[in-house]
Amino acid sequence: MHTFEFNRPANPAAAIAAASQAKTAQQGADIRFVAGGTTLLDLMKLNVETPSRLLDINRFPLDKIETTPDGGLKIGATARNSDLAYHPVVQRDYAVLSQAILSGASAQLRNMATTAGNLLQRTRCPYFRDTAMPCNKREPGTGCPAITGTNRTLAILGASDQCIATNPSDMCVAMAALEATIHITGPKGTRAVAIGDFHLLPGNTPHRETVLEPGDLITHVTLPPPVRGSKQLYLKLRDRASYEFALASAALVLTVNGGNITRARVALGGVGTKPWRSTEAESVLTGKPADAANFRRAADAALRDAKPQSENGYKVELAKRCITHALRVAITG
Ligand SMILES: Cc1cc2nc3c(=O)[nH]c(=O)nc-3n(C[C@H](O)[C@H](O)[C@H](O)COP(=O)(O)OP(=O)(O)OC[C@H]3O[C@@H](n4cnc5c(N)ncnc54)[C@H](O)[C@@H]3O)c2cc1C
Ligand code: SF4
Repeated sequence: MHTFEFNRPANPAAAIAAASQAKTAQQGADIRFVAGGTTLLDLMKLNVETPSRLLDINRFPLDKIETTPDGGLKIGATARNSDLAYHPVVQRDYAVLSQAILSGASAQLRNMATTAGNLLQRTRCPYFRDTAMPCNKREPGTGCPAITGTNRTLAILGASDQCIATNPSDMCVAMAALEATIHITGPKGTRAVAIGDFHLLPGNTPHRETVLEPGDLITHVTLPPPVRGSKQLYLKLRDRASYEFALASAALVLTVNGGNITRARVALGGVGTKPWRSTEAESVLTGKPADAANFRRAADAALRDAKPQSENGYKVELAKRCITHALRVAITG
């Protein structure tokens, strides 16, 4: 393992000033914040990440989970995934978020993993994690062996001819359905980014995964006020029942009135190169009777642009069944 400096900046401003000296905040960043360390330290052990400096942000007062004056929720960047999933307001008003977090990783990992770290977790594409192999995301311009190689778990939505890696997060899928906003403080000030704009599609620059620039510190995430009476569900399909990433997942926030769906938010995991909000499925569902035919139409719409690779064609039907089953369970119980 390479050597690196480990620093504990006195406060967020000092951390931001130090990190702003980095050449990039994307793949290959020479200075990194460290929160729970459950992604970063793994990748450092594999030499996929080789920062020369780590800035520990765990002592900053960024771990609170509190309601906002408008009735929404403010989630600190270093709030642990376990604390978020078991927070009474989250369990009552944002159940889809609690379910999504609890479907991921293990209890021990969730006790360490933080909100911001989860937003920035990296793909589990096997070539990305193996420095003996080329990989456009890890080393731009070296190629994408997954396209002609092992791609069973990789993306069918949002891929490019440069990268087909799946975003692995469960939490982010629920946050997409809940229309979360990411709050960032950097050398140029603060800004708020809708979760749909935070992660980038791979295109020709798969090493650029988010809008973050050097020195940008995620301080918190906000959720809008809960949709009262909404039916929420996170359904995750995977190779084994626990400690496994999604092959396909669906996060739903639905309002049903007199048998009709009056509002729908649908997001997918395990199939997209970023947490995948499906406005196509939402449009099909909104204003329609909550019945099996409309559930299937919504699923077909969500996967209309799917581009499967040699080994992951099964994901198209799997994702459709994930959506239809989730809709049925969410609405009829
Ligand atoms: C074995 C295993 C199984 C897993 N299974 C699942 C699963 O099924 N589903 C799932 O969703 N996840 C899963 N995970 C991923 C896990 O959720 C993430 O590792 C975790 O959420 C990362 O959080 P962290 O605080 O440990 O991040 P860290 O490792 O500390 O940081 C990750 C990245 O975020 C950056 N960062 C951290 N905080 C900030 C901040 N405030 N501002 C800017 N940048 C920041 C760091 O610099 C780093 O680049 C699994 C992980 C492991 C190891
Ligand atoms: S899919 Fe992306 S992460 Fe995987 S090998 Fe190709 S470029 Fe690398």
